[in-house]
Amino acid sequence: MGLIVQKYGGTSVGNLERIQNVAKRVAKTYDRGNDVVVILSAMAGVTDSLIEMAHELCENPLKRELDVLLATGEQTTAALLSMKLHSMSYPARSMLGFQAGVRTDCTFGNARILDVGATRIRELVQNRHVVVVAGFQGCDNEGNITTLGRGGSDTSAVAIAAAIKADVCEIYTDVDGIYTTDPNICKNARKMAKISYDEMLEMSSLGAKVLEIRSVEFAKKFNVPVHVRSSFNEEEGTMVVNEDADMERLVVSGVTYNKNEARITLRKVPDQPGIAAKVFEPIAQAGINVDMIVQNVRPGKQTDLTFTVPSANFDEALAIEKKVAEDIGATDVLGDKNIAKVSVTGVGMKNHSGVATRMFTTLAQENINIDLISTSEIRISCVVKEKYAELAVRALHTAFGLDQSE
Ligand code: ADP
Ligand code: ASP
Ligand code: MG
Repeated sequence: MGLIVQKYGGTSVGNLERIQNVAKRVAKTYDRGNDVVVILSAMAGVTDSLIEMAHELCENPLKRELDVLLATGEQTTAALLSMKLHSMSYPARSMLGFQAGVRTDCTFGNARILDVGATRIRELVQNRHVVVVAGFQGCDNEGNITTLGRGGSDTSAVAIAAAIKADVCEIYTDVDGIYTTDPNICKNARKMAKISYDEMLEMSSLGAKVLEIRSVEFAKKFNVPVHVRSSFNEEEGTMVVNEDADMERLVVSGVTYNKNEARITLRKVPDQPGIAAKVFEPIAQAGINVDMIVQNVRPGKQTDLTFTVPSANFDEALAIEKKVAEDIGATDVLGDKNIAKVSVTGVGMKNHSGVATRMFTTLAQENINIDLISTSEIRISCVVKEKYAELAVRALHTAFGLDQSE
């Protein structure tokens, strides 16, 4: 018996039959004597179609209103699940983000959770209610509805689990755990029984969308054990926990890819102090995150500067840099959306040399050209053409000995 947070993703609540399936799972957990708090995503595809609808109507929808719209996806599933549980005689109560006390900053579309004042959830749970919370949303200090960024209901779940000191936060999704790479593109991907917060942080930040990165940050900070598992079977999934002695110590433990970045190059930028600040300041002011940055050295007094931004911010970033280029006297601004960042990760690579060489050789053997490279202690990332992403992932997975035995 314990206090269990269960989060169900978009596919798991994708239609009424699946919501019914979720209701049965929740009921079963409750009947075993557990207290249950459920966090829901919108039905698969709903957030996308709401975004499309807004853009069909207005070129630049107001971000505040977009959040009011997007929050309805999760409102729908929370109400549906709660009424289904009621009809099965379970005392369920749905709550929107603000009712659950999820307080965020005011960055519409990508708000950060500041705290969760979970008094109401706790009271209801103490009275043996099943609380069903709409994920992905919160409320800023002025009472505006905010959303947490794509995939954000994972973060809602872990933040609420931390606030109510749940024994475990179960993330139910369409795969039965965390694999060495995306099992939907690599049939030899291997399911892991456990993964450390640090390794998962690295994988999430590099594109493994099975857990949204901020959810892993919360889990690590508040020590919340996270169990990623399938909503379609009863199998044990993968535990995300602190590193322990019996975790596998591989040099490379995961391969990830991210197709949601775009590349921008400023050509023939004057090579003098202060220029990089002029290039990146307006991007930062627009709230756009820059990921990789590469500056080439050329003979003479000019240089090329290349960097990547999220694809969603590409048009805005390109427009900003076209203005910057005029101001600083750069000759051209080039952009490419059809790129992918492929990465290998593993805390074991800290003390190993040769990982980068093996990565480059493997890509070369597949005839895949590398556009940009970046490294840290526990990862190496290469930007390649988007169409080679899957091929690169599979080749690297094999080259680093991660394939499951047949
Ligand atoms: P949900 O809607 O349940 O939140 P997501 O689509 O956000 O589900 O995340 C689950 C998906 O994450 C899987 O279908 C899989 O394609 C993808 N994925 C990427 N990398 C991994 C990985 N290393 N292990 C498991 N799944 C992964
Ligand atoms: N519905 C939101 C999205 O599609 C949040 C989530 O599913 O986690 O991004
Ligand atoms: Mg998700």
